[in-house]
Amino acid sequence: MIHSHLEDVPPKPSDVWLENPGWIDGALPTPVAYIDKHAMVRALRHWDPTSHHIDQLEADLLRESDFHDRLAAINSSGPPPFHTPHVPHPSSQATVLHAAIEPEFPTTISLLQYIPQPAKVSKNGRVTQPDAAKKGIGKDLQLVFGDLSRTEVLRRAFDAHQVGLQYEPGPQRGPPMKMWWTGRQKGGATTIETDLEYSNAIASLKSRKGKTQVTIELDVDELYPFRRAILDAPLPSNVVKSTPIPGAAPSNGLLLGTHVPIMDSFSPETQVNGTWILQLRTKWLCQDPTHAGENGAPGHCWRDANGCHIGVSNNGFKVWGAACAARVEGVSLECPPNSPEFDFRRDGSRRDTNSGPRPRGQTGPRSAKREATNDASDPLVSFGKLIGGLISARVAPATPKHRNTDDSPVSTPRKRRRRDSTPEPPSSPIAPPPSEEIQRCVDAFLRKKRIDWTPYIDILMEHSFTPDIMGMVGMVRLQELLPAAPEGEVMRWMKHCDEYTARQRSPKKRRTN
Ligand SMILES: [Zn+2]
Repeated sequence: MIHSHLEDVPPKPSDVWLENPGWIDGALPTPVAYIDKHAMVRALRHWDPTSHHIDQLEADLLRESDFHDRLAAINSSGPPPFHTPHVPHPSSQATVLHAAIEPEFPTTISLLQYIPQPAKVSKNGRVTQPDAAKKGIGKDLQLVFGDLSRTEVLRRAFDAHQVGLQYEPGPQRGPPMKMWWTGRQKGGATTIETDLEYSNAIASLKSRKGKTQVTIELDVDELYPFRRAILDAPLPSNVVKSTPIPGAAPSNGLLLGTHVPIMDSFSPETQVNGTWILQLRTKWLCQDPTHAGENGAPGHCWRDANGCHIGVSNNGFKVWGAACAARVEGVSLECPPNSPEFDFRRDGSRRDTNSGPRPRGQTGPRSAKREATNDASDPLVSFGKLIGGLISARVAPATPKHRNTDDSPVSTPRKRRRRDSTPEPPSSPIAPPPSEEIQRCVDAFLRKKRIDWTPYIDILMEHSFTPDIMGMVGMVRLQELLPAAPEGEVMRWMKHCDEYTARQRSPKKRRTN
């Protein structure tokens, strides 16, 4: 795609376009995009100076230069005359409105999202996991609304919350944003979905005198239909450069990616998908023993741009394989489709760390309505199952938990053996199993520092991160695994692990633990 405004001489339009100018000239071998009507006029003046479209476009521009006239135009006619979906054309408004200096507004962009709540431990050791609470997280920006279109504001909002790669504003409508400002209560906020609603709100905002703080609120539950087709690609090191674009009908015997031969028979749909699935399963085998399946066979993990392991289920491979076979743009052996299947890391946390929305109850792209959810593919259901599993796993061993006393059973055999004068390394206490060690250390953290890390026990156990090696694990890795934990808390945890380990090793061990 060439953008005409980036060229010194406007690229030569096709005859079709000269006949009937639009936002995209798709009749050329490489399509040309026109960013605004000025760009169209420039191309027409250069290549067809006598075109009657010039007068028409200039009349449009003149009319649009008046803000209120422009509102009326949009109001009466819906989409602009040459509108093509998916091509943003807001810059035309921006260019035109430059006549006056537009005011800048301090703006808070709030994204309503689900925040996991720490598990609560009652006195009798019962663990309850509260539902994730939906809260707004705000990011502060300075926005010149007069120069920004609705879609541009939405893009700024997505970028502020680092989800710009995941969502794309609808060219005609949505996602809805609530907007209010100084002097207006949130209750009286307007919900803006269309360009017209946006223009009206901005006109009203600009009529205000004095300092005005603006708040825009987006709800993660409303964003799902606006997901982009693909996710960010994995690290370049994972990518085999010579891999042809999937779907580009590989010929018989051609090797792809990890040298998996491709069958030449592509006729039945299932076989096509199956071929892709087979390749994907081979490519994304995971050697990490903690990611192995129930039967001990190696697991399957896609590695995202941060190198994080995203477990891929059978259903995930089905979705991915079908997307490859259907030649969904951007989807390849390296890049899965932007499906909820690929949102969760192996540890159950959201892939996009702190800013990540958690799709909840939605069914599919372009469907904002909630419907009966499919048990197997619904992210919330599987997430709920996962949490449920984790909780039961935690509760079970917690009940007969041994507090760290010297009469704990583990120390008994050692004393007996010493009496029998069996040679053994001196003063090296028999270490409890890692899970117990982690549990004890977390208990001590709660007792001594009043910080409750019980919600993270499962993650620590899953990785066998015992207190003695916490220094090697390091801040970065811990924060990656536990995005919900504040940085200072992670630091205190590491310090606590050092102290805890030192106590364990000292001769007067465990007395004060
Ligand atoms: Zn893995």
